Amino acid sequence: MLNLAALTELLASPKKIVITTHHKPDGDAMGSSLGLYNYLIQQGHHTTVITPTDYPDFLAWLPGNEDVIIYTEQLEKSAELIAAAELIFCLDFNALSRINEMGVLVGDSSAYKIMIDHHLEPADFDDYRHWDINACAAAQLVYDFIVNQLYHPELINKDVATCLYTGIMTDSGSFRLPNTSSTVHRIVADLIDAGAVNYRIHELVYNSASENRLRFLGHCLANCLEVLPEYNTAIIAVNNTDLKKFDVNTGDTEGVVNYALSMSSIKLAAFIVERSDRVKLSLRSKGEFPANEICKKYFDGGGHRNAAGGHSEGTLEHVVEKFKSILPEYKKLLKQ
Ligand code: 5GP
Ligand code: MN
Repeated sequence: MLNLAALTELLASPKKIVITTHHKPDGDAMGSSLGLYNYLIQQGHHTTVITPTDYPDFLAWLPGNEDVIIYTEQLEKSAELIAAAELIFCLDFNALSRINEMGVLVGDSSAYKIMIDHHLEPADFDDYRHWDINACAAAQLVYDFIVNQLYHPELINKDVATCLYTGIMTDSGSFRLPNTSSTVHRIVADLIDAGAVNYRIHELVYNSASENRLRFLGHCLANCLEVLPEYNTAIIAVNNTDLKKFDVNTGDTEGVVNYALSMSSIKLAAFIVERSDRVKLSLRSKGEFPANEICKKYFDGGGHRNAAGGHSEGTLEHVVEKFKSILPEYKKLLKQ
């Protein structure tokens, strides 16, 4: 194990560092990783961000993106960097299974592992953790790590601020989910003062859709939406043929589930999509409803109370039926 003093000492001289984050990185995964990257490179650390898979194009403008390595596209180089690393930062995830095959390499590496995360029930693979489930984003914890643990507020430059703002903005649902505390707003104000151009970041992330993506959204709402009033639940289920027809790319499905949740009576929304290798579920809920419990118990996944995900073998129809068969167990909570 490492304590903060020992970690601070380690970071006092240039080190070989790898930063990694979860499968199919989202705005917080990339924002927190590149925020930390832009901080560490200012101190001369040899730092590389390695993602387990590709990620959406609407994140490709983030400062430092050009230096990111995607594991599945550069297996050998990734393995070399992980084996040679002295420190590995694990951001926005807390179990090595979330980084796919990279998990074995990270687990085998002799590097110190530092987990910065806000998900429930962390596994035990780290040497130091900055972990808080009340944080709205891993990017919030990276800010706290730099400013309040390493005492480097002056190193929150424009690039760091831009990345961390993106992580907080996306994971807090644009500052509207319940964990968007006054502390979060104070941090965000600091990030704007440090150079994050808030309106421009919103523009780059949320107004960057292709025509295909919009037509796909229309298709989902017109043809794939099923409302179950008995359970205050809505499902959008999309098959692989339609993904191909609309030329859906990584990131194009992001946020579709929120449209199902936007109906006033709906407490639980599911977006179920048939990918080439497996069926993936995204759940969103309102209030106290534990979406993560369903993902953990039935779909080999997890996440937060109001935003969780998982996956399943089997056909799309089978997974939709399985999801529906679980609802009676939660009827009381859903009808509250
Ligand atoms: P999304 O629905 O956007 O893929 O994920 C929502 C939340 O659930 C995120 O916080 C993400 O980290 C978590 N999540 C999504 N898929 C999985 C999964 O397969 N396993 C676990 N443990 N968490 C997941
Ligand atoms: Mn996150």
